[in-house]
Amino acid sequence: MRLIFLGPPGAGKGTQASTLAEQWKIPHISTGDILRQAITGKTSFGIQAQAHVDAGELVPDMLIMALMRERFGQSDVKRGWILDGFPRNLSQAHALEQLLSIMRQPRPQVVNFEVSAEVVVERMLQRGRQDDNEPTIRRRLEVYQAETSPLIAFYRRHRCLNTVDGNFPVAEVNHLLQQSLQLLVSV
Ligand code: ADP
Repeated sequence: MRLIFLGPPGAGKGTQASTLAEQWKIPHISTGDILRQAITGKTSFGIQAQAHVDAGELVPDMLIMALMRERFGQSDVKRGWILDGFPRNLSQAHALEQLLSIMRQPRPQVVNFEVSAEVVVERMLQRGRQDDNEPTIRRRLEVYQAETSPLIAFYRRHRCLNTVDGNFPVAEVNHLLQQSLQLLVSV
């Protein structure tokens, strides 16, 4: 199974992705996690990314694509994957299509987690990650609206968009997710 998880920051993509990846024994590829590790490890990649992440801005596409090319070069991606936090804008979505076609990987399905603005802010404030302070959260939501939300229409046009209501508690969202994936597997 090859899946892209889409949704605003705080939508619960990471939580659902890690459960599902464990269940299916496929890698959960979170650009946010990879970036935070690089920042903590003070790698050259992390040093270049840090200011963007701290400000709630997107890390430049060039850096993200270098990271993804490297990640897709690893052998564990052959049997499937869940992408969480990537692509985050249209140019990344196009670059991903190119990358997958070069690697002769099948087209992924997309799951869009729909979550209300209030729930998203509440969850991020509870989570308390370093970039989860109010001004950064506000900026990340703006960036999501401007840059990432157009991907919903993009993938709808590609006929691979599936929608899950992410407003419920974790276990319930997982149930809805499994239901919507069941439909995919059965077609
Ligand atoms: P959230 O859970 O808020 O969506 P993530 O953990 O996915 O956060 O990402 C945290 C930060 O990492 C983002 O605010 C952004 O600065 C950077 N980032 C993650 N993925 C990408 C990407 N695909 N393109 C550009 N920047 C990214």
